[in-house]
Amino acid sequence: MSSLVSRTPPDLPPYDHQPRSYDGPTLGEVRDLRNRYLSPALLTYYKNPIMIVEGSMQYLYDENGRRYLDGFGGIVTISVGHCHPYVVEKAREQLETLQHTTTIYYHPTIAKYAKALADTLPGDLGVVYFVNSGSEANDLAMLMARLYTGNYDVVALRNAYHGGGSSTMGLTAHSTWKYNYPHSFGIHHAVAADPYRGPWSMEDPEAGRKYAEDIQSVIRYATPGRVAAFFAESIQGVGGSVVYPDGYLEHAYAHVRGAGGLCIADEVQTGFGRTGEKFWGFETQNVVPDIVTMAKSIGNGAPLAAVVTTPKIAKSLTGRIHFNTFGGNPVSCAIGKAVLEVILEDKLQERCLEIGNYMLDGFRRLQSKHQVIGDVRGKGLMTGIELVEDRVLKTPATQACLQVFERVKEMGLLIGKGGFFGNVLRIKPPMCITGEDVDFMIQALDTAFAEL
Ligand code: PMP
Repeated sequence: MSSLVSRTPPDLPPYDHQPRSYDGPTLGEVRDLRNRYLSPALLTYYKNPIMIVEGSMQYLYDENGRRYLDGFGGIVTISVGHCHPYVVEKAREQLETLQHTTTIYYHPTIAKYAKALADTLPGDLGVVYFVNSGSEANDLAMLMARLYTGNYDVVALRNAYHGGGSSTMGLTAHSTWKYNYPHSFGIHHAVAADPYRGPWSMEDPEAGRKYAEDIQSVIRYATPGRVAAFFAESIQGVGGSVVYPDGYLEHAYAHVRGAGGLCIADEVQTGFGRTGEKFWGFETQNVVPDIVTMAKSIGNGAPLAAVVTTPKIAKSLTGRIHFNTFGGNPVSCAIGKAVLEVILEDKLQERCLEIGNYMLDGFRRLQSKHQVIGDVRGKGLMTGIELVEDRVLKTPATQACLQVFERVKEMGLLIGKGGFFGNVLRIKPPMCITGEDVDFMIQALDTAFAEL
């Protein structure tokens, strides 16, 4: 690890890629078009938004050819790297051969890909339904659980994000993402197992069991005693990279199964080796879900998502016709299959563990220097740095978070932010990030923290 004393903004590591020259509309012209023709509800990062026109592995380029280190991967979506050559090649081959038919006809890629995906999952989790987004996957998982169990009530966790569609908005538990209209009928939110802000810390060996008791309580008091499902991200992503204490999901699943419910793991951010220790985030909690939903890293940026479940539960959908025009599209599946091959062949899970630990070590060193860092957490390349004004009261340092977020962008580092109070820096880069990139990132963050 390079020294943390430098105050001069660091340089990005050298990288051998010449971005194409850009001759499209200027940033100002694009801003005007966007303001005029796109929804005013679109969220934009940064006081002065940037325009990104090219990507190569862990780097992004703006219209002037300026390079940035992508520390957020298009919101935890770029897994193997921007424009990974093997993925591009497989996508091109498929685009030139056949773009679309829907699943009313057989196609070899969707079949072979479903097998390859199923092979990564434990137990009976072997039946795949492809869709196009994480929200769609969670919506379908909720439908399946309700059909299969004959129950309606669903338990999710506070501080969760499961989607923004009209049904998944009900699962999401952040007021920022919830519109003032009826959307949560039959959905109940239990206390989030947040060892930093909650009553029991990681040091308490019983913390997992204690947090899970709230699920039992919700089932007892807020439902008919029978539930359809329990939804949980394996690490809460949008909520600020919240890692549960050991044993939490084991206890949670036991309560839910005791009430007849299915356990659904939302692996939209945590899947595909990102947590380093295991291929699936739920495996770090020693549980086997009944349904797994996945998106983002699955397609390295392609609109691809999936619901995987057991043959028995999958049958629940056969009572009527369920159809998704683009789900299982040959191009999306060719991309998904290529991405999975790269993740497995290049051993990217191991890489996430190694580089992730190196990155977390760097963040902890920053924490020992900068009082504003209240908590450093995460697994593999799924990390968060929570900023507080005071380490005892844990008052969220939202402004400081914004300042660091803006400042590192000026230095060439793009990261995310989140948490209910907007005081958590979220760092979840593509899995191909290098040690030199991490050194750069730590120095950029160090400089920005020192300037607060
Ligand atoms: N689940 C989780 C954990 C997510 O982070 C997200 C998106 N941020 C979703 C579901 C919804 O995915 P999408 O935006 O693809 O609908």
